[in-house]
Amino acid sequence: QPVVAVVGRPNVGKSTLVNRIIGRRQAVVEDVPGVTRDRVPYDAQWNGRAFTVVDTGGWEPDAKDRAAAIAAQAETAVVTADVVLFVVDAMVGSTDVDEAAVKMLRRSAKPVILVANKADNNSIEMEATSLWSLGLGEPFPVSALHGRGSGDLLDAILGALPEAPAIVENRPRGPRRVALVGRPNVGKSSLLNRFSGEERAVVDSVAGTTVDPVDSLVEIGGQTWQLVDTAGLRKRVGKASGTEYYASLRTAGAIEAAEVAVVLLDSSEPISEQDQRILSMVTESGRALVIAFNKWDLVDADRRYYLDKEIDRELRRIPWAIRLNLSAMTGRAVDKLAPALNKALASWETRVPTAHLNQWLTALVQATPHPVRGGRAPRILFATQAGVAPPRFVLFTTGPLDAGYQRFVERKLREEFGYEGSPIEISVRPRK
Ligand code: GDP
Repeated sequence: QPVVAVVGRPNVGKSTLVNRIIGRRQAVVEDVPGVTRDRVPYDAQWNGRAFTVVDTGGWEPDAKDRAAAIAAQAETAVVTADVVLFVVDAMVGSTDVDEAAVKMLRRSAKPVILVANKADNNSIEMEATSLWSLGLGEPFPVSALHGRGSGDLLDAILGALPEAPAIVENRPRGPRRVALVGRPNVGKSSLLNRFSGEERAVVDSVAGTTVDPVDSLVEIGGQTWQLVDTAGLRKRVGKASGTEYYASLRTAGAIEAAEVAVVLLDSSEPISEQDQRILSMVTESGRALVIAFNKWDLVDADRRYYLDKEIDRELRRIPWAIRLNLSAMTGRAVDKLAPALNKALASWETRVPTAHLNQWLTALVQATPHPVRGGRAPRILFATQAGVAPPRFVLFTTGPLDAGYQRFVERKLREEFGYEGSPIEISVRPRK
């Protein structure tokens, strides 16, 4: 969701403008010079387009102490924004402080919309044209208090927002791409045969989709899936042609081409180094992951005991993977595969609205702040979800975070928003 930051000197009416944009009267905080106000995100909507508005404290360059902190907050808001609303007081005109702010905005290279607030009547509106001198283009005269001019401003905001990214709903229709991978003899072809019924019983084409010749379309759980690089699974490659090196390249290629990977393990044997390598290929690729323990029919109480221990030890780093115990031979739990794939893909494409994300994060860091290191504790100022498939987050902070604290944030993020079956990526951007 795109972010619009509202920046300006204290008392120019930023909060009133934010309330006007989000269309409700709440949390009107006066712009009292020197009073710290955190960057508060709100969800807004105009003409069917959703975006986040971030209110900032009054921006005063070179101000001391608390005011400096507010300025820093505003700068952070600008860094994280897609569009900046720079608010000036139309009754006052541009001041030295406004001009200094313009310099900071120029450096940010963000699209800036100049808002001339408090243009309550025609004569003030006329005077607002003098604000062209700031060099930010056409000023938008607005009366945040009375609503005058706010429709035009909202249109301008929409015009400046980046194109809506092609996410879930814009995804090309067609089967989801699945890689079925695992070391030799874990039962890949046996499982594949379960779905297609027989070796060649696959649909060859679905209207409007292109399928790589080495892929096949198979029905799993009443849904058509594109199984990536099944050619290798169908024709049993002779031992001579299937060196481990080429097999591993092929596996990597299939994972890369897929959206979700099913890593098949042989439950009757210990989890091997080769299994681990394949699992790492998936986690490094950022694909969604389902781990299927095949040959479950061979697992007795004794084996179960050791397998549980192996799982604790070997799969500790991927607790988020969806796990299934199935048998390609007896058909046990094979019907659980499609729901697991769908669940993993849904997690993979989850997008959390910025406002919601930050409300949650604010509560989290308040309850459990970063431990103090050398007399200082870095703070997380703001977070955005930078992308999906897999979900990627950026944390804007006052300094580098401890690895342990970052893991804590990731664990809590998972607890709050799910992500079962999907990796998530968190990057930290300390403020310079
Ligand atoms: P691939 O190399 O991963 O494609 O493995 P295959 O599908 O060729 O299976 C290897 C061997 O394991 C064959 O002898 C299969 O019959 C056997 N197999 C596959 N799935 C199961 C299962 O669920 N239970 C048991 N007991 N054997 C299985």
